[in-house]
Amino acid sequence: SKVINLKRRPSGTPTLADFEFTTAEVPTVGNGELLLRTTYVSVDPYLRGRMNDVPSYIPPFELGEPIASGVVAEVLESKHDKFTKGDYVTGSLAWKETQVAKPDGLIKIDPKQAPLSAYLGVLGMTGLTAYFGLTEIGKPKAGETLVVSGAAGAVGSVVGQIGKILGLRVVGIAGTDEKVEMLKSDFGFDAGINYNTTDDMTKAIADACPDGVDIYFDNVGGPISDAVLFNINKFSRTINCGAISVYNNTELPKSISVQPFLVRNSSLMQGFIVFDYADKYPAGIKQLAEWLQQGKLSNTETIREGFDNIPQAFLDLFDGKNTGKMVVKI
Ligand code: NDP
Repeated sequence: SKVINLKRRPSGTPTLADFEFTTAEVPTVGNGELLLRTTYVSVDPYLRGRMNDVPSYIPPFELGEPIASGVVAEVLESKHDKFTKGDYVTGSLAWKETQVAKPDGLIKIDPKQAPLSAYLGVLGMTGLTAYFGLTEIGKPKAGETLVVSGAAGAVGSVVGQIGKILGLRVVGIAGTDEKVEMLKSDFGFDAGINYNTTDDMTKAIADACPDGVDIYFDNVGGPISDAVLFNINKFSRTINCGAISVYNNTELPKSISVQPFLVRNSSLMQGFIVFDYADKYPAGIKQLAEWLQQGKLSNTETIREGFDNIPQAFLDLFDGKNTGKMVVKI
């Protein structure tokens, strides 16, 4: 069975040479274990951090060992009384075509409720990140202005849609004109800005947010975020969800220039990690599933095919080749 290992720790932007494509024997299934066939694999920007050998909220990948991420798998054989052949499960699993695993941390999912891949996107970590980041830290009030960076991506597109459900004015920042158009036509955003073709981002945000910025959901960090923060209102809230624009940097930034704007505006900026909200996941999934069924949330995905294409799909996140959630169908 095919396996993808971390071959070496990337320096700067990762490449295919950082991955090792290999095979391994599938062990026999022991008591309490499941034999699983991978059906969908999630690729996520945060995996880049796990490729570095640095302490973080989640341990680094080991060299010569398989990468792991969110996976949907079919149960081929079960020696656990809570699972049967033909069930589908999701959770963190290795990049292996077939594997034997204990079901700790895996949850059973129902393919009749939603497409299987949605459990990696809007009904999975992506949706929960958007929902808890926006509601718990953003504390939105109808009529406020929300700016989202990485807006056409997995988390960002859900954040903006939830913002509209909650009655906010929503402005998105993305990397192409097609994506900006999609923010408005598919996701209901009020305005969009293409950061690749806009010279003066600070002014563009001011123009798109005539009442200033009350909530900033930050997926990208760097100069885009500085431009947003120059436009924040008194008592505004910033959710530091991610900083993909600096994940491949090899040096620490020299300084962050926006602190005076935070001070002057009594503004909150808080780091966010979805795992801190684990005890609230069931409530979050219930709400997201309800919105999905009501047609208020769309499950937008970029689907690649084939086990061997998992690493390339991951690399393409850094080139903005996805809209919505990037998943690989096996
Ligand atoms: P996305 O689907 O948003 O994919 C990444 C997107 O980032 C690309 O499509 C691209 O869109 C954009 N991008 C890539 N490089 C740059 C750059 N240099 N500057 C600006 N934008 C760039 O991924 P996710 O939705 O899965 O993740 C979004 C963010 O949320 C990431 O930072 C991730 O680490 C974080 N995250 C954090 C979690 C947490 O618990 N804290 C949980 C899940 C995700 P474009 O074409 O617009 O450039």
